Amino acid sequence: MKYDCDVILDLLPLYTRKKLSKRSIQVVEEHLSECPSCRVQYANGMYDDNFDKEFDADSIRYTRRKKNHVFLRLFILLLFAGLICAGLAFLSYANYGTYNFIETAQNLIKNTFGS
Ligand SMILES: [Zn+2]
Repeated sequence: MKYDCDVILDLLPLYTRKKLSKRSIQVVEEHLSECPSCRVQYANGMYDDNFDKEFDADSIRYTRRKKNHVFLRLFILLLFAGLICAGLAFLSYANYGTYNFIETAQNLIKNTFGS
């Protein structure tokens, strides 16, 4: 036998899902024809259970982590938008005695960049 049983048992979940290359399929089938122990495990599906569970848990964890990142970015963006609005409100009231954001923003641009 060219390959260890451990290697073949690792490949069996992918073999049953037809996710292997032609060469790997050949390796698995050659091994199964020569190795009674792996043949029994393959026939009983004994290699399969943990693979699915681990795979699902990993992909769920990954998706959750990704979603958390999106919410965090959105939160930070909203926080900055809120701070800018609060800053404009404060400036407009302090400098011009009004809560008109647009007028304040225009005045701010005028005062900062001239013209
Ligand atoms: Zn074997």
